[in-house]
Amino acid sequence: MQNRCSFCGVRGHTRITCPTRIQAVAKARSLHSHTPEALSIRQKSLIVEDNQILQKKNNPTPRKCSYCSGRYGRFEYGHNRRNCPQLKEDKEKVIPKNKVWRELALESMVKHGFGVGTIFEYAVFNEKHRYIVTDVLWDRIGIYLPYSEWAAPKECFKVQRFDGVKHTLNFIRTPHYDHYTCFHIKKINILVPMSERSIRSNASDDWLEGKEGLELLFSKKSDKLIDHVSMLS
Ligand SMILES: [Zn+2]
Ligand SMILES: [Zn+2]
Repeated sequence: MQNRCSFCGVRGHTRITCPTRIQAVAKARSLHSHTPEALSIRQKSLIVEDNQILQKKNNPTPRKCSYCSGRYGRFEYGHNRRNCPQLKEDKEKVIPKNKVWRELALESMVKHGFGVGTIFEYAVFNEKHRYIVTDVLWDRIGIYLPYSEWAAPKECFKVQRFDGVKHTLNFIRTPHYDHYTCFHIKKINILVPMSERSIRSNASDDWLEGKEGLELLFSKKSDKLIDHVSMLS
């Protein structure tokens, strides 16, 4: 459904392009040049508004960098998000921190033998079920994970229930990562752990270097959602 014009109420055009408004302004302007004292208050305000519209048209506001304004409240006009020096700097800060975080996460996975192929038991409403880990969603594992305001999905492991029930849990929130300790694995009972070699061989070098999977973190979507200042500090 198209928006209604706030001037005449008709759909399909805006107040700025409204033919009724343009006509009314033309009439007011002609009156203004001949008998200005006859102008009504409404006509005067129409002219004021139209002057503002014309001024905006002639000097459109330059586009500000959405990263600087979105995350730092700074209005920078000389660059944009794609070549933002602040974003570049933040990324350079995040990568080594992310690397450390991921090393800890991987260590924790190795310690518990948790990776693709692991078989474990998990109680749902006091009923125990067996699962197998079918996939690790590596990009979701990173320093950004604990920042809960961020709308990033927190499910990091795809699991499949053993009993063949169709509505299986595709993702499981436990074990999940937490600030420093990485793993909350207490609630699950590992029956068949995976070997260190198998778990490590699944993680890519770029992931381990902290570089991979940062798109969502630096996307516009995350501007308002991530407390990146405390994450970077
Ligand atoms: Zn209109
Ligand atoms: Zn910027």
